[in-house]
Amino acid sequence: MWLGLPARESAGTRRGTKVTSARAIGLPRFGASGFYRGDMTYVIGSACVDVMDKSCVLECPADCIYEGARTLYINPDECVDCGACKLVCRVEAIEYETDLEDDELWHLEDNAAFFQTVLPGRTEPLGSPGGAQKVGRVGVDTPGIAAMPVKDHVDH
Ligand code: SF4
Ligand code: SF4
Repeated sequence: MWLGLPARESAGTRRGTKVTSARAIGLPRFGASGFYRGDMTYVIGSACVDVMDKSCVLECPADCIYEGARTLYINPDECVDCGACKLVCRVEAIEYETDLEDDELWHLEDNAAFFQTVLPGRTEPLGSPGGAQKVGRVGVDTPGIAAMPVKDHVDH
């Protein structure tokens, strides 16, 4: 059950700003798969898959954009909601969570799942390491991303 704020409700006023989260007002935030989600966040969606030029990584002051195999993932517990990454993404893959289109909403939980679940081939969740640079390329994706069709024609 999704307990976040309704998509698009006053989205313009929230974009790029730290907003009151469900956690802050005492509501737990559990996704459909049951794992805990943190504060409001920016999210990397489908358009990044197989593109991954990492322009956003260079702009992130929190160093919270981590590299999987076919896409990048924003750590929702480390993102400070500055919006700098969204501005440089040429394929418009990054959205604030309340601005996600319906067919992109699953990436909100999927970005979080990259950190909060045990990824294939690993023994424990990545968690919040406090910086993507020191972690380096994780090199594995969530099952949801791994199942996406490979894009044949990607302009790098
Ligand atoms: S800038 Fe956009 S396409 Fe490039 S890696 Fe970041 S999210 Fe992916
Ligand atoms: S919104 Fe800011 S802190 Fe969050 S991932 Fe983008 S650049 Fe990093």
